[in-house]
Amino acid sequence: MATNMTDTINKSENQTDEQTTGISCVLKESLADKARHSWFERPVPGIKQQLTAPLTAVETEPSTECTSCHSMITNTALIFNCYVCPLCEHHMPMSARERLQWFLDQVDGELGQEFSAKDPLKFVDSKPYPQRMTEAKDKTGESEALVVMYGKLRNLDVVACAFDFRFMGGSMGSVVGDRFVQAAEKALEDKTPLVCFAASGGARMQEGLLSLMQMARTAAAVERLRIAGVPYIVILTNPVYGGVTASLAMLGDIHLAEPKAMIGFAGKRVIEQTVRETLQEPFQRAEFLLEHGVVDEVVHRHQLVDTTYRLLAKLCHQANVDA
Ligand SMILES: [Zn+2]
Repeated sequence: MATNMTDTINKSENQTDEQTTGISCVLKESLADKARHSWFERPVPGIKQQLTAPLTAVETEPSTECTSCHSMITNTALIFNCYVCPLCEHHMPMSARERLQWFLDQVDGELGQEFSAKDPLKFVDSKPYPQRMTEAKDKTGESEALVVMYGKLRNLDVVACAFDFRFMGGSMGSVVGDRFVQAAEKALEDKTPLVCFAASGGARMQEGLLSLMQMARTAAAVERLRIAGVPYIVILTNPVYGGVTASLAMLGDIHLAEPKAMIGFAGKRVIEQTVRETLQEPFQRAEFLLEHGVVDEVVHRHQLVDTTYRLLAKLCHQANVDA
């Protein structure tokens, strides 16, 4: 018994030694491990480490945030989807040049590049007018807020113009008027339809009366088209306000609008202050205006080219309408 007891004690002592040795080995290893890593990379006890995978090509690609649902969409996906959010169908703005190149199947030329804005009033608000113009040119790569192109929409010859809202809010100055009149004259001469993508804050205050005169000039040009029986279609995109609404944007034979586009003359706040009433949403939205007869149809951007083509083909009495 005594011998057995001693053996047991010896065994247990040995075991303790082995255990101690084992623990010290683990400690040594962990110390060595700590030494290998910097303090920043060392795992913090109690915090679960997450595996980090390298970012994929899609995650590193330049993306744009949807202003409606705040999802991040890659620029490639956005261009492929005509700047419509694939998650919430929000229609994001398109630049004038992109818009026309997307709309026309073939671009034969551009009009109105020879016009350039003057500063007869020497207008200065927070910045001088020429400085604002230079900044807008640098920002957009355009020389004015309206781009005019002519070419083919399937089998139809058309003249198409588009406002660039990034260029001083798509405001209508004398050059915008000049370009629009030139577009209308080209349409009149060739007897081809005119299409206008409107997106504007209104007349350009820096040109004072000269910009207001463009309302009459553009309205007269549209009237000449009407007399000659040349179709003129307006596509209202977000937003269209002021002098542009009060002239060329509301004089079309047909008015199409993109979903949820804001269209009006004065803004909501100005009207509320004038009539002293609170106006309810969706005041001035395209869908509201469709219900009240201002707009003929609200068309999703994916169907816009097809719808416009079909309308123009009908108005031009085309026998062979492409599918
Ligand atoms: Zn969205």
